[in-house]
Amino acid sequence: MFDSILIANRGEIACRIIRTARRMGVRAVAVYSEADAGAMHVAMADAAFCIGPAPAAESYLAIPRILDAAARAGAQAIHPGYGFLSENAAFAEACAAAGVTFIGPPAAAIRAMGSKSAAKALMDGAGVPLVPGYHGADQDDAVLEDAAARIGYPVLIKASAGGGGRGMRVVPGPGAFAASLATARGAARAAFGDDTVLVERYLTRPRHIEMQVFADTHDNVVALFERDCSVQRRHQKVIEEAPAPGLDAATRERMAAAACAAARAIGYVGAGTVEFIAEDGAFYFMEMNTRLQVEHPVTEMITGLDLVEWQLRVAAGEALPRRQDELAATGHAIEVRIYAEDPARDFAPATGTLQHLRAPAEDAAIRVDTGVRQGDAISVHYDPMIAKLIAHGADRPDAVRRLARALDDYEIAGVQTNLGLLRAIVRHPAFRAGGVDTGFIATHAADLMQPPAPPPRAALAAAVHRLLADARPDGDTHSPWALRTAWRLNGDGYQDFHLLAGETALMLRAHLHRDGNFRLDLPDGAAPDGAADVAVGPGDDGAVCLALDGMQVRARVLRSGPALTVLLRGEAHALTYVDPLAPAREAAAGGDRIVAPMPGRVLEIAAAGRAVRRGEVVVVLEAMKVQMRLPAPRDAVIAAVGCARGDLVEDGAELVSFVPAE
Ligand code: ADP
Ligand code: ADP
Ligand code: MG
Repeated sequence: MFDSILIANRGEIACRIIRTARRMGVRAVAVYSEADAGAMHVAMADAAFCIGPAPAAESYLAIPRILDAAARAGAQAIHPGYGFLSENAAFAEACAAAGVTFIGPPAAAIRAMGSKSAAKALMDGAGVPLVPGYHGADQDDAVLEDAAARIGYPVLIKASAGGGGRGMRVVPGPGAFAASLATARGAARAAFGDDTVLVERYLTRPRHIEMQVFADTHDNVVALFERDCSVQRRHQKVIEEAPAPGLDAATRERMAAAACAAARAIGYVGAGTVEFIAEDGAFYFMEMNTRLQVEHPVTEMITGLDLVEWQLRVAAGEALPRRQDELAATGHAIEVRIYAEDPARDFAPATGTLQHLRAPAEDAAIRVDTGVRQGDAISVHYDPMIAKLIAHGADRPDAVRRLARALDDYEIAGVQTNLGLLRAIVRHPAFRAGGVDTGFIATHAADLMQPPAPPPRAALAAAVHRLLADARPDGDTHSPWALRTAWRLNGDGYQDFHLLAGETALMLRAHLHRDGNFRLDLPDGAAPDGAADVAVGPGDDGAVCLALDGMQVRARVLRSGPALTVLLRGEAHALTYVDPLAPAREAAAGGDRIVAPMPGRVLEIAAAGRAVRRGEVVVVLEAMKVQMRLPAPRDAVIAAVGCARGDLVEDGAELVSFVPAE
């Protein structure tokens, strides 16, 4: 076994590999780009080397810099993870030339599968079933179009060098072929530097089922069962599970045999995945990924094996730890990929700082693989995956239930995520029934991607509780002093709060009780269910427990100035607090003026020269659909007004200045 390995990757997969290396007593060396100096994988590693600036081409893809780091660290082997250089045959060769073991297959096996077209020709020869299609070297337009006509529409034009779900084009009928071919070639050239395409029948309701294989240098090849990865968006996996729902034992056997035949045909060594597309009981070879797959934890959960450990053992020349007849699958496992993205905007990647991040507790049934911590940034430079959440159960319903529960415990604020979509999927009856096809998300988009619901009463109550607590010098909701303040403020024991939920203005009235509890009114009817009696109990770890009409909920409120995020049952509700007293407080704290607390329109403004009493309304501003009545901070005379009725003013604009009254 190696004493020391270098991990030529970042994020969750680098962290996951370090964990296994550590358990095996192997020193783990990280590399990182300038953007990742503070990243989790760097902190976890035994040593780390900066290999260049943020763009991957200058760091995580820079072969000489990675080999230089390996030499300086004295690493005997390099694990490429997935993505980046993991399927780069030139990198595998460069490692060999530098005397470092590449933890992966031989360069020739990577090359054999690197082109989808060449791989298909090879698999055809090995007797592995293929989707009807054309994968020839002749790329003449007429040849491709003839092939499409023979195959029968709809057809799929695919970049032969494609990956990550990119470089695919569906052609519904012959009229669209020429234009689609041009587009597909352009995209393939731009993304992969190679415009070779293949044409195959486009299956309309297929499932993606793949087989995990493992081979060693002693001529052993085993299949470690299948994974169903049919829940996809933009041809990229979102949810993966094992076993594949409804797959019968005979088909599983045939698929495993085909996958092992594929591995043998190319002299494969190490972890690999043979991807099939399945429809109507038949399955066809799609491609082979010659690396560890993103979703390998699903296989680890049902087999109890550590596939990274197997990779290290095989690379060190050991035989596979188990024979095929010693392998068994137990129960059911499901993984969801938590992405920083906006499902409502065609899954556009999102960026930002993870202001708050709390994963569910891990145990034998729940696993979280991540490479980020609270406070880390999701940048434009790399893949937007935040984490993988994997649940195991005795059977599929058991695993789904645990997954749903764990998703409700996942708290992320600061970056837009697909958590809401994932929650909707795991509750959807079609997903619960099992065996959905790759069109599942698109077909059920109306159910799965509903616009954010108005915040529930519990979220509003938690926000109001936070605002009440923040208004107190000691932050203690039970403080009698605080209650006296509230009584003093209004005389009749209530306090009004203006909140914005998206475009909707909400006026909330909290009637304060002597014990720190309150009754919450929603007078303008914008929120559901009217009023509630709110009892405040102690929460743990910064959370708050509120009983609404006797029903207990746990919430967490994050605040950054006027921006409030209420995390409740895994849902993040964004609210804006409109504070009409903010300018008065600012004036009292020093300046003799009123400034606009947010951009808005001036509805009323008092004239210059007028004497005003403290608390008298001087300006009425309409901002974000709420009328704010801005009072004078003290008895004073208006010296100057900075705007006129009807003006639009910027956030922070000076509206009125005062001189002391005589
Ligand atoms: P896997 O096949 O391992 O399940 P995917 O199909 O989602 O993973 O992605 C295939 C490979 O492409 C992975 O190695 C992943 O790192 C990489 N990848 C994923 N998304 C992107 C992207 N948006 N751009 C470039 N590469 C990507
Ligand atoms: P990549 O290298 O990007 O992973 P794949 O060939 O593995 O490309 O295909 C990715 C996804 O595209 C599949 O999981 C499947 O959802 C869809 N797909 C691929 N080929 C077909 C096909 N012939 N018919 C229908 N869908 C397909
Ligand atoms: Mg694929």
